[in-house]
Amino acid sequence: MTYDVIVVGGSYAGMAAALQLLRARRSVLIVDAGQRRNRFASHSHGFLGQDGADPSAIAAEARAQLMAYPTLTWLDGTATAAEGTLDAFTVADEHGSRHMARRLLFATGVKDALPAIEGLSERWGQSVFHCPYCHGYELDQGAIGVIGTGPASLHQALLLPEWGPTTFLTNGALSLTGEDRAELARRGAKLVETPIARLDGAADVVLTDGSTLSFAGLFTASVVSPATDLPRAMGCDVEENPMGQMLVTTPMKETTVPGVYACGDLARMPHSVSLAVGDGAWAGAMIHRALVFPGM
Ligand SMILES: Cc1cc2nc3c(=O)[nH]c(=O)nc-3n(C[C@H](O)[C@H](O)[C@H](O)COP(=O)(O)OP(=O)(O)OC[C@H]3O[C@@H](n4cnc5c(N)ncnc54)[C@H](O)[C@@H]3O)c2cc1C
Repeated sequence: MTYDVIVVGGSYAGMAAALQLLRARRSVLIVDAGQRRNRFASHSHGFLGQDGADPSAIAAEARAQLMAYPTLTWLDGTATAAEGTLDAFTVADEHGSRHMARRLLFATGVKDALPAIEGLSERWGQSVFHCPYCHGYELDQGAIGVIGTGPASLHQALLLPEWGPTTFLTNGALSLTGEDRAELARRGAKLVETPIARLDGAADVVLTDGSTLSFAGLFTASVVSPATDLPRAMGCDVEENPMGQMLVTTPMKETTVPGVYACGDLARMPHSVSLAVGDGAWAGAMIHRALVFPGM
């Protein structure tokens, strides 16, 4: 059969898009590899009505609600190839099957490149975070360390004093102007320029001079890029932003390839579950409009 829409990526954005299409009784195939970006965190914050919930429970509840719609087909697995043109797209999956659709939506999210510091990746989502709105409140106004990765880190170090006394550990990732230093001082942020040797304990930073600084939590500006190269391989344009890369989309969430859409972290910034859900809901409605009014 030819589906109305194949959604590659069945997390918050992809499911929100599918929901709109299913409620218009359109046939949808969701292909999802189950690797949500926030899978490292045990609590999700800031999503209305689900504040503090387990992120996997939010996704599971949404999936259960979607499965009640008879025009949904759900495939657990990875999409390995995508090709085609308007009204005739094909997606291949890791099990060797090929699926056809009139429109294609990528909601495949982004991957985070983390600073190469011993002990950091193990603490990602537990005591090392990127988003103060998601995880700042729970640090209870305790000491916060910001680990430098590049220019975006200065912004983090200037913002985070809102959540607790902040130390900016530049770790050689950026050079600061006199103006930057004055601004950090104005915000009450301490500056540490000694390189980091490793992380220890819950959120302790061991410096190369042997000293240790203890924090309630750490933040770092990860650099993001699309989690899969499938959209790029189809010819979808990618643009740089202060957080890394995202797909170029129109206000209707169509990529630079006609009939191929993108939503969620992959196609907007900044990033959160709320924003991914909103972006997905909009993309779903816009794809539905395009199916009804093809020349739109
Ligand atoms: C550590 C951490 C903690 C976070 N905490 C919060 C928080 O507390 N509150 C908050 O609002 N936000 C939080 N976020 C941000 C939040 O995780 C993202 O904004 C949100 O997950 C984006 O949703 P999405 O649907 O766009 O992408 P994702 O949730 O990343 O989902 C993308 C989906 O696409 C699938 N996929 C990718 N490629 C393929 C393929 N080729 N075939 C099939 N499927 C594929 C993936 O497996 C995944 O299931 C956090 C992020 C991180 C990194």
